[in-house]
Amino acid sequence: MMFETWWLLALPLVFGLGWMAARFDVRQLISEQGALPRSYFKGLNFLLNEQPDKAIDAFIEVARLDPETTELHFALGALFRRRGETERAIRVHQNLATRPDLPEPEREHALYELGQDFLRAGLLDRAEESLRRLMSGPYAASAKRVLLELYEVEKEWQKAIDAARELQTLEQKSYSLQIAQFCCELAQDALQRKRPEDAVKWLNQAIAENPANVRAPILLGDVAAASGDARAALGHWLGIERQDASYLPLVADRVVKAYASLQQEGTALEWLHGLLKGKLAPELLDTAYKSELETNGPEAAARLMREQLRRQPTLLALTKYFEAQAAVTSAEVPAGADVPAEDGAGDRDQETGAIRDLLQARTRNLARYTCRECGFRARLFYWQCPGCNRWETYAPRRSETLG
Ligand SMILES: [Zn+2]
Repeated sequence: MMFETWWLLALPLVFGLGWMAARFDVRQLISEQGALPRSYFKGLNFLLNEQPDKAIDAFIEVARLDPETTELHFALGALFRRRGETERAIRVHQNLATRPDLPEPEREHALYELGQDFLRAGLLDRAEESLRRLMSGPYAASAKRVLLELYEVEKEWQKAIDAARELQTLEQKSYSLQIAQFCCELAQDALQRKRPEDAVKWLNQAIAENPANVRAPILLGDVAAASGDARAALGHWLGIERQDASYLPLVADRVVKAYASLQQEGTALEWLHGLLKGKLAPELLDTAYKSELETNGPEAAARLMREQLRRQPTLLALTKYFEAQAAVTSAEVPAGADVPAEDGAGDRDQETGAIRDLLQARTRNLARYTCRECGFRARLFYWQCPGCNRWETYAPRRSETLG
């Protein structure tokens, strides 16, 4: 009986306590909401109503009142940059980077983001200035990677080499492929400025950095050819076969020209005929066809292409065959000559020409180099992909699509 009475008395007390606890929670909630500055809701409202500039003002006000809101700022800055609104991203990150009360890691984070904003906005000097301030700390490696990207865009190859070397230490990862390419870029600059000795110095450095680099021997051949030493040039270019034969088609035209300058057209043709028997044939058809045509005339060129068609029937070989056939007929009947055609011969010539045109149109857009990283397709061969800016991502062959 006593027990039940106690319960009857205790029940309102429990309810009372519950009610007080509930009130307490609500009060705390209200006071917490009160602690969030009005500008926060104002900012949110502006953002939702597509008024980003007013939203930034409101959020900067929030940050002034409550320094704990940096995450919100980083999120906002990232959002603006992703949307391509770099000016707004810069404003947000600049506000963070210049706040004296911000802890060092967050200030570094802001500088890193700011560097990327400037880079995206094309303000390269300012990007470099922001990123160079991050020489150590958790953002040093990321900043250096962005700097490297920036130096590549600016074609500041010496600075790119230095940044890559520092990254090598920071990331414990090899950058020798890139460094060798930067040396090649410097060599090419030197060649343009008619400083062959400097070019050779850079090219030797490229080979020392990455012995697998094929661009350096190609350029060493160019230096030799420019100085009139065709034999030395041939030595460099033909030496590529020992490194990676698949790059030979890139120098085929140069090899033919060098042999021609030594009056050894026959040797060039022999070299090409040999390669046409292998898997490089589709890449070399053009050079082989032209060189045969110039040395031995259209009939020999047509014969070579017919042989090639039997060996490897490809659309490209068929195109070249009809090009040669059309060249044969136009050689027989010089343009503008008033020679009566044999029965049906004129029609046949027209047909040959039409087939050639059709095949040329069909194959013209097929012959493309393709980046294995991003799939960017290009008519010219690039050592650095214009699509994704990576180095040596193009295989030196266009023929996969030329079935
Ligand atoms: Zn690419």
